[in-house]
Amino acid sequence: MMSLVMMPAEVKNDRSHIGWIGETSAIGLRCRAGCVVGLLVLCWVVTTACSQVKQPIVVKQEQLRVKLRQMLGIPSSRCDLLPESRGQYEKDGIIIEKWVWTAEPGSRVPALLYRPVHLDGPMPAIIFTYGHGDSKSSWSYNYAAQMFAKLGIATLAMDPIGEEERNLKGGMATRAHDVKGVSERCDAAGRLIMGKFVFDAMRGVDFLLTRSDIAKDRIGVVGNSLGGATAGWVAALDTRLRMALVTGWAYDDIMIQTKPCTSWPNERMRKLCTWAEYATLSAPHCAVLLINGENDVVVDRDGTGAAWRGTQAAVSEAAKVYAAFGASGKIKMWFEPGGGHRPYFASKIALEWIHQNLGTPGWTIEGIRQLPTLNAGKWCDAHSIPLEKHYATPLHWRGTTLPDLGICPQLCAELAILQSDELGKPEFTLEGWLDRIKR
Ligand SMILES: [Zn+2]
Repeated sequence: MMSLVMMPAEVKNDRSHIGWIGETSAIGLRCRAGCVVGLLVLCWVVTTACSQVKQPIVVKQEQLRVKLRQMLGIPSSRCDLLPESRGQYEKDGIIIEKWVWTAEPGSRVPALLYRPVHLDGPMPAIIFTYGHGDSKSSWSYNYAAQMFAKLGIATLAMDPIGEEERNLKGGMATRAHDVKGVSERCDAAGRLIMGKFVFDAMRGVDFLLTRSDIAKDRIGVVGNSLGGATAGWVAALDTRLRMALVTGWAYDDIMIQTKPCTSWPNERMRKLCTWAEYATLSAPHCAVLLINGENDVVVDRDGTGAAWRGTQAAVSEAAKVYAAFGASGKIKMWFEPGGGHRPYFASKIALEWIHQNLGTPGWTIEGIRQLPTLNAGKWCDAHSIPLEKHYATPLHWRGTTLPDLGICPQLCAELAILQSDELGKPEFTLEGWLDRIKR
C-alpha cells in the first residue's frame, strides 16, 4: 500500500545551498576582519568543491541528452516558426488566441493560447502534451487551460499530430498514430513518433519565447498518460523548462510493456541509461511532480504497486542530484488515495506545484487551497460531454476532483483554428508528415 500523502523523495544527508549560506552568515557575524578573509577562502573552497561535484554531472547529463535526442530522432535544426494569427476571442475573463505556426518544413501546428484578459507584466506559461485520444478540445485539457488562465498563466494548447485539426478528417480520439504501420514508418525515417510529440512541444516553447508577454524563465509542461510520458521527455531534454507535471505515468520498466509510441523509446532509452539517470536529466532546471492514482491499473497493470516502487526509487536517486545542485524538493511524487487513471494535472495538488514553481499571479497558496471542488463526472454530465467508455468509470475519469472556478466547457467548433478547406491538408496531418520524412 502506498502512502496517501505527498511523498517527498527521500534525501539523506541533504545539505542545500541555503544551509551553507546560513552557516556562513552566522559565523561571519562573530568574526573580526581577519576572520572575513578566512571565510572568503572557505567560501572559495566550498564553491570550488561544489562545482567539482556538479561539473561531471552536467557533462554526463548533456552527453546523455544528445544520445536520447538522436534516439528519438529530434531534428538538430529548427526552421522559422512563421507564426500566423487566426484571430482571438474573449470569454469569461479569458482571451483565447488562435495561431498556426511551423514546427518543421511540411508540418504546421494549429494552437490556442489561453490567457487572462488583464495582464500585469510577463506571465508564466504552460504547454500541454496529450494522452491517447486527447487534443486541444478534450474536456480535461480545455478545463485545465481555462483554469490556468484564470490563475494568471498563459496556456498553449496545440493539437497533437494525428488528432482533431491534425487528423485527416478532423476526427477526435482517433489514436491515429497507433494505427498499424505508423510507428514502423516513423522508425524507418529515424523519427520516432514520441520524438515528434516532444519536438512539437519544444517548438511550442520557441513560440512562447517570441512573445514579450511571457516570462521566459517561467515556462512549464503538463501532460497526462501518453502526455505524461511526453512531458517527462520534454523536461529531460529541454533545459528551458522550469516546471513539469507528469501525471498518469511511471518511471519504471513496466512502461516498456506499452504501445510502440512509448515502448520503443523507453526500451531504447533503457539501453542507454537507468530510469534514475533519466529522471536526473531534469535536474536542476525543471521542478518535476509525478502525480498518480494509487489504484491506477492502467499504469500499475498488475496492481502490485511495482510501478510506483520503481518510480519512487528513480525519483529518490534523482532527488539527490537536485539536492547537490541546491534544488532540494524539486522532484516529488504524489498519490491520489483510491484514484485510477485520471487527469491529475487539473487537481489542487497540481495547482500548488504550479504556484510554487511558476507562480500564479494574483493567487496565493491559501486562495488555491480554499477553492471549492467539483466532481468531473457530474460536471461532464451537466454539460452533456460524452466520455470514452473505457475511462467513463468512477475509478477513472468520473472520479476526478477538480477545483471549481465556475468553468464551462468550450465546444470543438468554437476552438477551431483552421478554415474548412485547410482540414486534411498534408502540412497539418500525420500522413503528410510521414510522407515528408520518408527516406
Ligand atoms: Zn500511442
